Amino acid sequence: MQSPTEQIQLLRRMLELYSPSGQEHEIASFLVEEMRRLGLRSRIDEVGNALGEYGSSGPSFLLCGHMDTVPGELPLRLEGNRLYGRGAVDAKPALAAMICASDILISQGFPGRLLVVGAVDEESQGRGVKNLAERRLQSDYAIFGEPSGVENITIGYKGSLHIRLSAKTKTGHSATSWLFRNAIEEAFDLWKEFQKIHFPEERQESKFYAITATLIEIHGGGSSSTVPSLCDLHVDFRLPPAVPPQRMLSEVAKTVESYRVTRSDVDVDVQVEDQCEPYEADRDSFLARGLSWGVREVRRKPATLTRKTGTGDMNLLGAALKIPMVTYGAGDSKLDHTVDESVDIDEYLDSIKILQKGLVRTLELHSRAQNTASRPPQPA
Ligand SMILES: [Zn+2]
Repeated sequence: MQSPTEQIQLLRRMLELYSPSGQEHEIASFLVEEMRRLGLRSRIDEVGNALGEYGSSGPSFLLCGHMDTVPGELPLRLEGNRLYGRGAVDAKPALAAMICASDILISQGFPGRLLVVGAVDEESQGRGVKNLAERRLQSDYAIFGEPSGVENITIGYKGSLHIRLSAKTKTGHSATSWLFRNAIEEAFDLWKEFQKIHFPEERQESKFYAITATLIEIHGGGSSSTVPSLCDLHVDFRLPPAVPPQRMLSEVAKTVESYRVTRSDVDVDVQVEDQCEPYEADRDSFLARGLSWGVREVRRKPATLTRKTGTGDMNLLGAALKIPMVTYGAGDSKLDHTVDESVDIDEYLDSIKILQKGLVRTLELHSRAQNTASRPPQPA
């Protein structure tokens, strides 16, 4: 079993291997070697994910973190108790902690199965995790490695819908602008209508349970002395669990329909650029309870269950796997993708213990429920 010094060394070596999306090969080979040394059956899969498996019976746990980072190399440095470098918060400490926790569990003869995944391409197209979904990976529980903070467990991510609206009008000289419809103004009017779309299930006091909309791009006009005849406008909606992208899209379509009634001379088209289902985990699952127990044991504080306004791998795999999931990892996600990416070493070491204790506890809760379910009825 690794000592704390070796656990820190593993993280340091992972940080030294610069691995922006598309350049994960070196770190993948390193992790496969490392996992093999620690007793996992390891290999690189067809898309480049590093996989490590342990055990052949009992409940199975997917521990999935990503190996890639955003581009922009940062020198590895230790300042006080903080380790700085690209990926030092997003999300190498989380993945390293999963490997270290597996090492402890293996040395204790953990009576379940582990599948550790160092995924590729999370910061780009998500090819690594999509491959797991396509291969219909079987697992009873899943933990994703992203910074939640050592005492927090992430149980929800909002969904998203990114649309492109184009408005076209027949126009002419701007000296007689009153004769024409300005495509930029028409598109902007629709944007203002989109901002009014809301549903009764939303809770406006919570950024997680409410829709937010951002106008992220606008193109239009350009030629001098001409009323703009074309405008493209991109809107990014962030959606609560009650509003999946399809529901939002049908409301957007209704808004456009009623606009068309009054503006038959404006040609409006809406295209979906991208969409992502919202995900909210059951806060009472054995996994959430098990990991919360781990936080309490190690940090002597109750865990905080958090819901994030961004999107994560749970969005992608939530619908595909339909199993209890959480996201966990040391570090402050506000530092994601910044030049200050860093993690507190003690928090990293504690996150290893929390994962290990949390998995043991989850397995106990799981087995206890199965024994109760399979016990023959007692005579009255
Ligand atoms: Zn990440």
